[in-house]
Amino acid sequence: MTSNRFIPINKPMIGREEINAVIKVLTSGMLTDRAGSGKNVTEFENAYAKYIGSKYALAVNSGTAALHSSIMALGIGPKDEVIVPSFTFVSTAEVVAISGAQPVFADIDPQTYCLDQESVRKAITSKTKAIIPVHLYGLTADMKPILEEAQKKGIAVIEDAAQAHGAQYMGQMAGNIGDLGCFSFYASKVITTGEGGMVTTNKKELAETIRMIRDHGEGSGYSPAMLGYNYRMPEMEAAIGIVQLSKLPSFLEIRRRNAKILSEELNGISELELPIEPKGYKHSWNVYTVRLKGARAGRRNKVVQKIREKGIGAVVYYPTPIHLTPYYMKLYEGKRGDLPETERASNQVFSLPVHQSLSKEDLEYIIETLKRILS
Ligand SMILES: *Cc1c(COP(=O)(O)O)cnc(C)c1O
Repeated sequence: MTSNRFIPINKPMIGREEINAVIKVLTSGMLTDRAGSGKNVTEFENAYAKYIGSKYALAVNSGTAALHSSIMALGIGPKDEVIVPSFTFVSTAEVVAISGAQPVFADIDPQTYCLDQESVRKAITSKTKAIIPVHLYGLTADMKPILEEAQKKGIAVIEDAAQAHGAQYMGQMAGNIGDLGCFSFYASKVITTGEGGMVTTNKKELAETIRMIRDHGEGSGYSPAMLGYNYRMPEMEAAIGIVQLSKLPSFLEIRRRNAKILSEELNGISELELPIEPKGYKHSWNVYTVRLKGARAGRRNKVVQKIREKGIGAVVYYPTPIHLTPYYMKLYEGKRGDLPETERASNQVFSLPVHQSLSKEDLEYIIETLKRILS
C-alpha cells in the first residue's frame, strides 16, 4: 500500500466487453433510440425486466428521469402531496417539487435508515398521491406495511431503487414490489452506464405513458399527445448496460463477501454500529454504512477526515437531510427537530467502500485503518 493510493467509495468496473460493445454501436452509426428504433435500448430493457421479474422496463437517461417520469405518469401535480424520506439523495424530493406537488418528509427507522412506517402513516393526508420509499445504501425499506397502508388508501408506491440493483425483500426483487421501480446507472452505483436510469413496472398503462414521456410525449410521428421530455437513453449507454447487467450477479456476490469481511473484522470496535441485513432482506451493498454511536457531527466529521487522510474514500451520505437544505427548508418550512432519527443519522453515519474493485489488501487496509483510528 503506497501512501499516494486512494481507495474511492465506488469505482466503475468497465472491461473489454463494455468497450467493444460501445465501439460496435459507434461504428454502426445508430447512436440513439427513437420510437423503439434503438436495438441496444430494447435489448437492455428486455434483459432488465427479465432480471427484475417485471413485465416492463423503460430505459431513460438518469435515475432522476426515472423518478420524474414516474411522478408524471401517475398524474401528480400541484395540490398533491408525496411522502418521501429526507435522508436521501435530493433527487427523490426534487422530482416531486418539479411536478409542483409538495414533498412531505417522513422520518426513518434508525437501524435500516429507510422510511419508518409509523412516520409515513402520520404523514398521510387526503392529498397524498404517492409514497417514495428509498432503498438506502442498497437495503430495501420495510415494504409490506407501507404497501398495505398505501393500498388501503389508494396511494401509489414508487420505489427509489437507485442504489439497490439486485436487492431483495421477502423473495421479491427491489423495483418489483411497488407500482413503479426506479433505478440509476450513475457512475457510483452498483452497475453503471455513466449516466442512465430504468423504470420497472407491471402496469401496462404506466409503461406506455412513460414510454411517451421519455420521448416528448409522442406516441408516433411529430404529434405529442401529452407533456414530455427528452429522457431517452443513448445506444452507447444501453450497450454498456447490457454487459454490466450480465455481470451484476458476480458484482453482488463480491460486495456481499466484502461486507461480510468488514462486519466480522469491525465488530470489535465498540463505538461503531454496523449495518444490518434483516431476515428476508438481501442487501445490494452499494456502500457499507456505519454509525458512530452517540457522536455529534463534529466528532464524526473528524473521524471521516482522518480516514480520508489515510487514503480511504469514506463519504457521508447525507450530511444534511433534505428538509434542512436551504432551498427545501425555505420552500417547505423545514426546521431542526422535525425528523429526529433522520437528523441523528445525518450527524452520525459515514460510508466505506465495499465495491467489487476492492482488492484483499484494500479491505485489510480499510479494517486496519479503522481499528487504529477508533481504538
Ligand atoms: C443516485 C440516486 C438518484 C438519482 O440518480 P441519477 O442517475 O444520479 O439521476 C436518486 N435517488 C437515489 C437514492 C440515488 O442514490
